[in-house]
Amino acid sequence: MPGEETSDPYRVWLSEVMLQQTTVAAVTPRFERFLARWPTVEALAAAADEDVLSEWAGLGYYARARNLIACAREVAGRGGFPDTEEELRKLPGIGGYTAAAIAAIAFGRRAVVIDTNVERVVARLHGIDVPIAEAKDRIRELADALTPQVGAGDFAQAMMDLGATICRPRAPECTKCPLSPDCKAFASGEPERFPAPKRKLVRPTKHGIAQWIERDGCIWLIRRPAKGMLGGMAALPGPEWTADTANEGPALARVTHVFTHFRLELDIVAASEPEREGWWQALSQISDAGLPTLYRRAIDAVLESRTKLAA
Ligand code: SF4
Repeated sequence: MPGEETSDPYRVWLSEVMLQQTTVAAVTPRFERFLARWPTVEALAAAADEDVLSEWAGLGYYARARNLIACAREVAGRGGFPDTEEELRKLPGIGGYTAAAIAAIAFGRRAVVIDTNVERVVARLHGIDVPIAEAKDRIRELADALTPQVGAGDFAQAMMDLGATICRPRAPECTKCPLSPDCKAFASGEPERFPAPKRKLVRPTKHGIAQWIERDGCIWLIRRPAKGMLGGMAALPGPEWTADTANEGPALARVTHVFTHFRLELDIVAASEPEREGWWQALSQISDAGLPTLYRRAIDAVLESRTKLAA
């Protein structure tokens, strides 16, 4: 995890991939479980896809899990992680940030590591008052100028820690910050104003139907196609989600789930016969099914509405 003294590229890579869009608090126990189950990249490469996807369940952004498997297999096949940013970037699921973090932290290379915390610190230090998305190139240039030739990994971790613990989005603790003498945001007296908040994103709404097929305390689950949203994950069966109008028939429950690019309204409707390949999952063991959060919520919503009706 960030801040931990390690140069094992597998651990650095795994923690950085897990931390993309998921909080440290949520990731820490999952990271430890992953490492206990697959202590090396070779072990992960040899794991069954379904086992890895189930272990990932609940962390969201399942494309990351699929890339994780592909990347582990490529790395194991070539005998280890490459040690340059350029080569690391060619691996599945490794973008600019992760490549720089592995190169700097695991291999001691000079690389400019920029996560959202570092972006905020640099923006405040230089008094950038537009949304970060509109100042990415400028922030990269400024971060590059700050990065030392030697010890770039330690520097990167220090900047990320500073952003996470002191230069927080709300109520930064400027009096504890070693950068305060040079910080334009601090000098302004209103450090929180920097950078400007991001412009509001309007998410379109999609609609979906999930079928509830129940028999003898079990429900019918399917595995979603490998490609696309929640690819390869366990799910309730149902047609593709669309932007068309919502289901108007009776539903057992409805859940609303927010993805990065759209909002989904999913109606869970009763059906009698399975139409696709799948399996019967005991409702009493539903937590073993490796369901992503959307379908866990859908199943919980049906069970809750049933309990209310019975009360
Ligand atoms: S002085 Fe305040 S605003 Fe500036 S970098 Fe430090 S914590 Fe952030």
